[in-house]
Amino acid sequence: MITVEQAQALCLDLVQTGPSETAPLADAQGKTLAAPLQAKRDQPPFSASAMDGYAVRRDDAVQDAKLDIVGESAAGHGWDGTVQTGQSVRIFTGAPVPDGADCVVIQENVTTDGAQVTLTESIGNNMNIRPQGADFKIDYTLKAPRVISAADLALIAAMNHPDVAVTRKPKVALISTGDELLMPGGDPSPNQIIASNVFALQAMLRDAGAKPNILPIAPDTPDALDEVLGQASDWGADIIVTIGGASVGDHDLVAPALDRFGVTRSFHKIAMRPGKPLMAGAKGTTAFLGLPGNPVSAIVCGHLFLLPMVRRALGQSNVLPRAVTARLTAPLPKGGPRAHYMRARFEEGAENRTVTAFDKQDSSMLTVLADANCLLLRPIDDTAKDAGDPVTIYPIT
Ligand code: AMP
Ligand code: MG
Repeated sequence: MITVEQAQALCLDLVQTGPSETAPLADAQGKTLAAPLQAKRDQPPFSASAMDGYAVRRDDAVQDAKLDIVGESAAGHGWDGTVQTGQSVRIFTGAPVPDGADCVVIQENVTTDGAQVTLTESIGNNMNIRPQGADFKIDYTLKAPRVISAADLALIAAMNHPDVAVTRKPKVALISTGDELLMPGGDPSPNQIIASNVFALQAMLRDAGAKPNILPIAPDTPDALDEVLGQASDWGADIIVTIGGASVGDHDLVAPALDRFGVTRSFHKIAMRPGKPLMAGAKGTTAFLGLPGNPVSAIVCGHLFLLPMVRRALGQSNVLPRAVTARLTAPLPKGGPRAHYMRARFEEGAENRTVTAFDKQDSSMLTVLADANCLLLRPIDDTAKDAGDPVTIYPIT
């Protein structure tokens, strides 16, 4: 069986980065910048006062100087003249510094009779001026790819762009399979199970910047599976995800259905717990991921394989889950022949980060997963660990 790392690389190979589209700033948060973006002007576009005070010549900015007030410069309304020796211009924060002036004496350091201003202190080292282009110059370029943050939106706006090129959201079809499944809110018989993991996957996909679509549940018949796979394809899915039916039991129909559909299989089964029956493949530019049905397996595989595929489709560069180190609060026995992604809780202390694995690790237990805030990795054949030993964890939300 291939390792998780090999399977992640193979999954990423199945995905192409999508085309770009234009998003207005109001709709661009969290999307991925698709192309480098160049500023259309300097910011500030002129030398601006950083304080309320008086714009004067540097040589005049000495204690007891008495200067004529010859004009006023406010934000949006500059003063057109040139400040001469012995003169000052009343100025406010953000206003253009007039020609001739090269510093601003703050208003706290003057007395004034309205026509003249007297400096009570010499100017220090701070000229109280934000030079033209101090924030960015016209050739400043925001590099792509980049997930657009709130601060980025302000920066892009200041660069005078009303909209921005972003990578189109990949369309991800979610297909639950199983005769026993029904949607929540119905009236299930004791034999039936609620289709649950699909709602976690939908939320995770949305957070990652994809456009998920929950398709009708496919009962365990070849025809039903073929029908729903066709629906996913007609919708234009970039990634088609099946859930369940991935093992090799009599009712596990996904692998043959993908074969019939013309999917070239990349791998089936990986050395991982939970999630051993994972499969992946592609047909043309459409990627396929077959997740195990057990809710925790499906969601863990979603974090480790599906979300990286989405990030790749968005053209992002750091696509794998973020790993950090934490110290165990309790010992763990030696690991097994498959990498184990244990459900665990980490805590950020003032000194260090600690992590506690839950006792129950059954791959059907959503209550345990809901209490977890990370996956704790036990690599293949890991040695036994003591309390205090460092381990790798992957924070999840
Ligand atoms: P399977 O992989 O189809 O053998 O399913 C493994 C287990 O996961 C079974 O107990 C299924 O009832 C359950 N299961 C399969 N699909 C889902 C789903 N979409 N939501 C919740 N449980 C599921
Ligand atoms: Mg099933």
